[in-house]
Amino acid sequence: MKPIYLDHNATTPVDPEVVEAMIPYLTGKFGNASSAHNYGRDAKVALENSREQIAGIINCDPSELYFTSGGTESDNMAVLGTAAKFKDKRNHIIVGAAEHHAILEPAEFLEHKHGFKIDLLPVNSEGLSSPEDLKTLLTDNTCLVSVMHANNETGMIQDIPALSALTKDTKTLFHTDAVQAIGKIPVDVKKLGVDLLSLTAHKIYGPKGIGAFFIRSGIKLDPLFYGGSHEKKRRPGTENVAGIVGLAKTLEIAQQKMDEDYKKLYDLSEYFISRVTADIPDVYLNGTLKNRVPQTVNLSFKGIEGESILLGLDLKGVAVSSGSACTSGATEPSHVLQAMGIDKVVSQGAIRFSMGRSTTKDDLDYVISVLPEVVNRLREMSPIYNQ
Ligand SMILES: *Cc1c(COP(=O)(O)O)cnc(C)c1O
Repeated sequence: MKPIYLDHNATTPVDPEVVEAMIPYLTGKFGNASSAHNYGRDAKVALENSREQIAGIINCDPSELYFTSGGTESDNMAVLGTAAKFKDKRNHIIVGAAEHHAILEPAEFLEHKHGFKIDLLPVNSEGLSSPEDLKTLLTDNTCLVSVMHANNETGMIQDIPALSALTKDTKTLFHTDAVQAIGKIPVDVKKLGVDLLSLTAHKIYGPKGIGAFFIRSGIKLDPLFYGGSHEKKRRPGTENVAGIVGLAKTLEIAQQKMDEDYKKLYDLSEYFISRVTADIPDVYLNGTLKNRVPQTVNLSFKGIEGESILLGLDLKGVAVSSGSACTSGATEPSHVLQAMGIDKVVSQGAIRFSMGRSTTKDDLDYVISVLPEVVNRLREMSPIYNQ
């Protein structure tokens, strides 16, 4: 039995073409991009070419793009960097209720340690936020709004242009965490109307530990780190040149394959959802078929624990996630599903199946064949499932 990996929203294997692009910068061209000699210049050229390439893909100027260690760092930069810059003038922040922990936790830190006022922008039962709700929360004291582009647990895509329009021509900055959107759907900072944007490589067949942060020109945030003039002092530290070259290659490939990947994954996910909901009673799709990055399918199996289903599937060689990978181990239902108002008995039985470029219909047919047995066995033992 070949193992089946359906946890691509947690991380992905690195595309061999990306590995190949990186190797020269781990070996012969290993120089430090700050060095003035030949080795340094080679690294610097690769660094700036990559910046230009990525800027072209997200439609910004290369000078607006900063390399970071990934989504978590970029998200922290958005929240903490904005807060540090504006704390004496404005200390109100609005973050989406279904954000990643990399946004929620720095916001909680600001609330508890620095007296910031944090409001959560609600999501509806589909996981989407409304401009009307944002309008009622915005004040003259708001320095930042952060709403993710595509949700890591449900795949639901927020209408970022409609939300960011409300902070246009105000002093409030708008950030989006585009980690789960980049490479899957078009991400264009101008069309999105955002001031700040986070992205990472490892969710889309790139290496772990490399990401980028877009800061619209004219905006000055405080850095998280001090200690060098790299990245115009906004992100000091010797640049991860091989990782950056890998990130650029990752995005180039994703851009080329976007339409093909999208169509394939949309069809597979629709097939999977219809089969599982037909074969097993009391299964609910969290989120909707529309407005979703199609690789993400979040299903709730009523009356049992997602964690138990995950372990049952693992024994059958199928890797999935319950809730978000970052919260597994905790038995509380995911904050994302709670924010969507989903009943606890339903939300605690949630499983995220996240497909990828290598997923086949045969893989899904195997999962469809073993899932009823796993679910039925757990339901027979469940004190809260009565059907
Ligand atoms: C994975 C993820 C992050 C964190 O990115 P890392 O590169 O792993 O630090 C942030 N936001 C979302 C939506 C994610 O899915």
